[in-house]
Amino acid sequence: MKILVINAGSSSLKYQLIDMADESVILKGLCERITFKNGKLTQKTFDGRETVIEQDMPTHKEAMQLVLEAMLDKEKGALSSVDEIGAVGHRVLHSGEDFKNSVVIDDEVIRICEKNAELGPLHMPGNIACIKSCREVMKGVPMVAVFDTTFHSTMPPKAYMYGIPYEVYDKYKIRKYGFHGTSHKFVSEEVGKMLGNKNARMIICHLGNGSSISAVKDGKCVDTSMGFTPLEGLVMGTRSGDIDPAAVDYMRVKLGLKPDEVVDYLNKKCGVMGISGLSSDLRDLTAAMNDGNERAKLALEMLAYRVKKYVGSYLAVLNGADAIVFTGGIGENSPLIRGLVMSGMSYCGAVLDEKKNQTRGETYINTEDSAVKIIVCPTNEELSIARETKALTAAK
Ligand code: ADP
Repeated sequence: MKILVINAGSSSLKYQLIDMADESVILKGLCERITFKNGKLTQKTFDGRETVIEQDMPTHKEAMQLVLEAMLDKEKGALSSVDEIGAVGHRVLHSGEDFKNSVVIDDEVIRICEKNAELGPLHMPGNIACIKSCREVMKGVPMVAVFDTTFHSTMPPKAYMYGIPYEVYDKYKIRKYGFHGTSHKFVSEEVGKMLGNKNARMIICHLGNGSSISAVKDGKCVDTSMGFTPLEGLVMGTRSGDIDPAAVDYMRVKLGLKPDEVVDYLNKKCGVMGISGLSSDLRDLTAAMNDGNERAKLALEMLAYRVKKYVGSYLAVLNGADAIVFTGGIGENSPLIRGLVMSGMSYCGAVLDEKKNQTRGETYINTEDSAVKIIVCPTNEELSIARETKALTAAK
């Protein structure tokens, strides 16, 4: 059975068609500039056939129609009929407190997602529009919502509550939710399989443009670094991560920002981009540091230092760890950041093997006698969504 995975933003839509028989990708594509002029769809099949369609997509419905057209194309597509799609898995940003797991989509699920849209105003409207459009153009195909937040729904109240009046939490549901859940779930399951121990204590460092860390025990998340929104926690590509709220207000006054511009500023102009004044891309920063750029060096050191602090706090939360895991574009590809994070950690039994750390494709990068495994595990959020979708729709 084939499963279509959809990851929709406000003006973009990424998709992958996955053959669940062997979990291989049949094709993948991207619609850009939905709702704007100069819309564009690009698609590539597993055997290298490429499609480019330049056509405006006024709404997600036109985008979905174009996706179907591209997938069904006799020469460049890979489907002969929509009926071949067994189920669709939709990535949805926010579950609020309403869902603890992925869920088969019906009218009630859509209603709850609409109620929760204000928790993720940048992503939820696109997610919901895409779900509705898909239901229109693919009538009868079962659909599943896979949330970015639900893997973290197992956090205990002492971890997810903020130090604000309980009534305010209760009325407005202001609390830590955590994000990147599909990645943390996928990676923790893969590492559980690798170690032959589903109950292992793991610290998962998902480091990409957006970054988050989670503490996982018995396959369940017990704490995570992102919060009410993805802004909390690590120093990221363009996000500040943790910052004193009073400093934010002071900065707002000094920079003359309007109240509704402040969060955007913290999301888009800060992080390693803001610190370096150069780039949010780790490759650029690493090259600049090697050329002697001090601010690029500071940005990289800050990024790694914040990761190290979270790893330390989750070692305390889990009473030690069986594995510290690196994933995401940076986690999978940057020996520099992994080296900075793991330096001097023999006190807790985690010893990095620097030669293995430098070797591309190495999975275990700890020394033989390291009590804690240090692991590089590529994430695969689309496959994670497809597996969830399969499990819930029993597509075979
Ligand atoms: P997103 O959060 O957008 O999914 P990714 O997980 O793709 O992000 O990670 C993007 C980050 O990974 C960028 O900072 C990029 O520089 C970094 N990255 C990708 N490849 C490499 C590499 N070979 N070496 C160092 N950093 C890399």
